[in-house]
Amino acid sequence: MSTTHIPHYINGQISSGESGQTQAVTNPATGEVTGQVELASRTDVNSAVAAASAAFPAWADTPPIRRARVMFKFLQLLNEHRDELAEAITREHGKVFTDAQGEVARGIDIVEYACGIPQLLKGDYTEQVSTGIDNWTMRQPLGVVAGVTPFNFPVMVPMWMFPLAIAAGNTFVLKPSPLDPSASLLLADLLKQAGLPDGLFNVVQGDKESVEALLDHPDVQALSFVGSTPIANLIYERGARNGKRIQALGGAKNHMVVMPDADLDKAVDALIGAAYGSAGERCMAISVAVLVGDVADQMVPRLAERARALKVKNGMELDAEMGPIVTAQAHQRITGYIDKGIAEGAELVVDGRQFDTSATGEGCSEGFWMGGSLFDHVSPEMTIYKEEIFGPVLVCVRVPDIATAIDLINDHEFGNGVSCFTESGNVAREFGRRIQVGMVGINVPIPVPMAWHGFGGWKRSMFGDTHAYGEEGVRFYTKQKSIMQRWSDSINAGAEFAMPTHK
Ligand code: NAD
Repeated sequence: MSTTHIPHYINGQISSGESGQTQAVTNPATGEVTGQVELASRTDVNSAVAAASAAFPAWADTPPIRRARVMFKFLQLLNEHRDELAEAITREHGKVFTDAQGEVARGIDIVEYACGIPQLLKGDYTEQVSTGIDNWTMRQPLGVVAGVTPFNFPVMVPMWMFPLAIAAGNTFVLKPSPLDPSASLLLADLLKQAGLPDGLFNVVQGDKESVEALLDHPDVQALSFVGSTPIANLIYERGARNGKRIQALGGAKNHMVVMPDADLDKAVDALIGAAYGSAGERCMAISVAVLVGDVADQMVPRLAERARALKVKNGMELDAEMGPIVTAQAHQRITGYIDKGIAEGAELVVDGRQFDTSATGEGCSEGFWMGGSLFDHVSPEMTIYKEEIFGPVLVCVRVPDIATAIDLINDHEFGNGVSCFTESGNVAREFGRRIQVGMVGINVPIPVPMAWHGFGGWKRSMFGDTHAYGEEGVRFYTKQKSIMQRWSDSINAGAEFAMPTHK
């Protein structure tokens, strides 16, 4: 099979970098190397930032309504190319095609939101703050902003960032994950077709070196990061040291509490989809079931039956429910966690390591396959409870009551998403108020906020103040200016030495 060369995209052109370094890109379903992605050097990053800097003044001066029109055209093209993008995701990430289509749809939501940028940038105005003086605020773009994104959403997560950043008048450099980089170039092409001027959207392929070059570049004003917590932490610190505005979204360990009064059929469906969908490689995947009172005895056997029956196969097969793991290394890491869970005394009810690849599809015997795993009797000191596994492994913790469930969750280092299944309004309300987590679902397993609400976790799931997209996203990509104005007819003669007050 021939492999594709996956280059950078700088100043409106496909560009081969000067580093000469590449990394293999693999189809996780077959294990085949399908491409070689370039790894940018500092010089490559400098070229992308220079192109973005040169394009900034004219774009910042372009009326927001005209920027919005480019977004409308981009939206139309995205809708025409949804399945092409979804195929690129499945080919390099492995998630099932319907899930990839869902990812594209959630990215498109943000573009729809960005189309409203003239309204979103409207400032505040106060007439007559003092005699003859008016005061207003406006939001202006920052300049060159960068986005560094994870492998698990190669379309949606970049689209949490660049549509709003660009619509707000900034220029953008995207550094996608080297594991599934092809979708970034499809997005670049659609933006060009939409009429976005060259230099506004650039892609540098690469890894650590290119990210550090972006963090150190004096012309990069802000950087949005989504990925694992250790890297998010590093990015936040280095960016802050260099005086940049940073939002760095990190890893997760999302709990779902099931109360004895919950509709257990719905709770089982929710857990199976949220734990094993996308092979658990979602930052909003549910990886801990917190089973209250006698719920565990009723639910664990049902969860086990469903986990064993998962249709794990090539994501392009229409009935696939779960695809492969993204890489052989990730497969090894997840297997290591399962070994550790057993060693630390948890009960492995379903063992996803024992997986027969014969039903995964033609040519898939060398793919990175694993079934769903289920642990019961997991306790808070165990590694499989504390750490993010980022794979199809659901751990069950048994607790006596809702207060213990809330304390357990609040004590965890991560606070990305959480869910509570109950039929009690009072439990739901108290849970929503008391839980120390950024995104909460009540009878909703994966509460990913809509485009206009903003996405972000608490604690070590996010470093920085403003969440991704929504109004918080607009604030992140703009800075406020306040203007106070008076005209000569209302100016009193003479110098004033006291602090100005209202007159
Ligand atoms: P990762 O942290 O390994 O990589 C993320 C990005 O950082 C990639 O572009 C990568 O090239 C770059 N990178 C890797 N090492 C680096 C280093 N040392 N210095 C600078 N940059 C570096 O994450 P991943 O494996 O691609 O994605 C999975 C992780 O992302 C999980 O932890 C998941 O929870 C998290 N995630 C979080 C959210 C969220 O919104 N909170 C969303 C999606 C994924």
